[in-house]
Amino acid sequence: MGSSASSGRQSVLAVLDQLEADADQVLALRLDVLSELDRISVLCRLTTVARKFAARGYDVVNQLVDEATATDIGGSLVSVLADRLLISPAAAVRMVKEAADVGARRAITGEPLEPRLTTTAQKAHAGLIGPEHVAVIREFFRQLPASVGHDARERAEEMLGNFAADLRPDQLRKAAAHLAARLNPDGRFCDADRAHKRGFYWRCQDADGMSVGTLWATPELRATLDAVIAKLGAPGVCNPDDPAPTVDGQPPPQAVNRDTRTPGQRAHDALTAMGRAVLASGQLGAHRGLPTAIIVQTTLQDMEKAAGTAITAGGTTLPMSDVIRMAASAYHYLAIFDKHSNRPLYLGRTRIASADQRIVLHARDRGCTFPGCDKPGYLTEVHHIVPYSRGGETEPRKTALACKPHHKLADEGWTVRLNEHGQVEWLPPPHLNRDGPTVNNFHHPQRYLERGQLGPDGDKDN
Ligand SMILES: [Zn+2]
Repeated sequence: MGSSASSGRQSVLAVLDQLEADADQVLALRLDVLSELDRISVLCRLTTVARKFAARGYDVVNQLVDEATATDIGGSLVSVLADRLLISPAAAVRMVKEAADVGARRAITGEPLEPRLTTTAQKAHAGLIGPEHVAVIREFFRQLPASVGHDARERAEEMLGNFAADLRPDQLRKAAAHLAARLNPDGRFCDADRAHKRGFYWRCQDADGMSVGTLWATPELRATLDAVIAKLGAPGVCNPDDPAPTVDGQPPPQAVNRDTRTPGQRAHDALTAMGRAVLASGQLGAHRGLPTAIIVQTTLQDMEKAAGTAITAGGTTLPMSDVIRMAASAYHYLAIFDKHSNRPLYLGRTRIASADQRIVLHARDRGCTFPGCDKPGYLTEVHHIVPYSRGGETEPRKTALACKPHHKLADEGWTVRLNEHGQVEWLPPPHLNRDGPTVNNFHHPQRYLERGQLGPDGDKDN
């Protein structure tokens, strides 16, 4: 790095220092001397400044995206952004995607390129529009069919970018809907449009254990589910309130008569029955070394009290009543631990040694052990703390769960070891100069509450 680069760095840091000092001065201002109108104008000016900086942030993110292909910053850019800015991984993903559309770009040769959404980017960098406007415009393009040509898209972007500077996001959304109808008057969409939009996502599990999911179903999936729900969600079928629910064939009339479920509840129970049937069929084969099944971890003490919750390797919390009910079925594994010694007491339905160990790992690590990673156990691989090539054994004390990208880091200089609490620690190679947590508490939220109180045996973890 030459001296011009280091003097350039010095001046960036000096301007940022000055900015923070100026911001402190703004915060110290007495605004109660102002009139109401003046205060509103102050609010407008602060909002404009904040929007300018947010837009500048997109440029920086794009630079990081470009460099992340060349440099190892210790994990994916999304997880680094989420950890350092203390934003959710979903917000970090959104930030990277928004940056790709409205941040400054460079060609591979290094010369500057116009942002993809040119006018929108201009307005955002001028502080005239905020993230809500950007979201409306990005959504407009997400919904636009592939058949709309390049020129029409460019004209639409320019129009919407200009509208946005004068409209509230809700008004802009109406204008965008109007424009979309003009560009695609017959409402024609092709298979590629639908394939692009399809998806299924869970939101966080609520405190009561319930979850909301968002499903963007293709016509094919909808038709498929409709057929399943018509059969398994018919009145009197798969009713969990029945002592012996009807799954096959016609339900007896009395089962139909006492079925008081709503159509929504029947559809829900039909999907549960469908999932169970698929798992119980044994047709799914193996998933990462274990027959595909639900893996559940709990402690003997909670099981005996029939209280508390268990956790699946997908990161879902299950009430104990569900665990006990499911224990009768053949499509799940149950790992029971002693709360005090952390010792595995029972591994249901396991015969293969390596499967045993993998279940114990699911139970101990619950997911990827890299600090901050949110990948649940089902999406992980087994990392050998002492590399296999140097005689590593597959035994829980010597292995840890890691998702694929983080597993790779272990080969790139990161040290993985167990700390004195039996938790997996990741230590960065010295050249990364990275500080921050070394243990992943994401899958063990109770540790956030116990921070500073964790005893030397670390067994509160259960
Ligand atoms: Zn990971």
